[in-house]
Amino acid sequence: MTQPQYLDPQDRPLDPLQQLGRKLRLLIVDDQPVNIQALYQVFAADYQVFMATSGAQALTICRDKHPDLVLLDIQMPGMDGYEVCRRIKADAALQDLPVVFVTAHSEPQAETQGLELGAVDFISKPFSPAVVRARVKTHLTLKLQGDLLRQMVFIDGLTGVYNRRFFDERLELEFQRAKRSGSVLSLLVADVDYFKRFNDHYGHLAGDEALRAVAATMRAQLKRPGDMVSRYGGEEFACILPDTDAAGALRLASEMDVAIRAAHIKHAASDVGAYLTISLGVASFQPDAGRLAEELIVAADQQLYLAKSQGRGRACGAVI
Ligand code: GH3
Ligand code: MG
Ligand code: MG
Repeated sequence: MTQPQYLDPQDRPLDPLQQLGRKLRLLIVDDQPVNIQALYQVFAADYQVFMATSGAQALTICRDKHPDLVLLDIQMPGMDGYEVCRRIKADAALQDLPVVFVTAHSEPQAETQGLELGAVDFISKPFSPAVVRARVKTHLTLKLQGDLLRQMVFIDGLTGVYNRRFFDERLELEFQRAKRSGSVLSLLVADVDYFKRFNDHYGHLAGDEALRAVAATMRAQLKRPGDMVSRYGGEEFACILPDTDAAGALRLASEMDVAIRAAHIKHAASDVGAYLTISLGVASFQPDAGRLAEELIVAADQQLYLAKSQGRGRACGAVI
């Protein structure tokens, strides 16, 4: 399954077509410029349109421009449309890209072959502009809904930040990346203080609301696009901080501590103060051949335990 890299699914719209915040991108591929022109007329007003006159050029544009859908001619000199489709479907980064064949072939066999290669639709020339427009819109809606679902698999339903599944995958990815580049990787874990008492005092629904506020406040403190916050479990959160040294990670932890206090979420049953607080543990290391990503989790947990035992509402950190 393709995984969102550094895009933020929490910023994603729920109505994919209307609220995408950018024009949808179409790629039109045909060796005859006159055919490209005809389709261009149909879509130019509503879409960002890219054009390619050969299969090779089409694949380059797919990789560089990330179109949302491809309208693909079958008969072209050199690499034909079938081959372009085959290569798109064989490329992990492109396989979710919908391919619609637009062609003069009207035999069922040609159509079957195209669909078997993974195309979503088959439009015969000469085409009706209204029909082509409607079909393209349908396939784009399906594509964007699919994108959204793929991302939701990685989102925590209560707080809207990444979930544990995403955290596990991302930590391994960043671990390998840090190993290759020789950079320092930091992990920050946070746990809400006296949260059982909070639930007992204010009720479970208020507890849920507080968790949402904690998640949003922590997330708002992140500065780099590679940083991420996830709900690690219950009332615990974890941030992976690539290319961040211990001092930087501890500074961020302190900022989160301050920001959560400043959110002024009343917690009358806390021994720390009048408002809800979190305790944080940070661990940093430079991965090498002999080490495991799990060591970072264990060390950050130990630092969190230290912060708890030293009075809560604070951050502790270590380089391991
Ligand atoms: P400490 O300061 O030592 O961390 O104490 P604590 O009470 O926060 O820790 P403990 O692990 O004893 O309790 C965690 C509480 O978090 C208990 C559990 O009901 C609550 N909790 C976990 N997940 C959720 C949730 O999704 N919603 C709500 N409202 N509460 C949750
Ligand atoms: Mg806990
Ligand atoms: Mg707790």
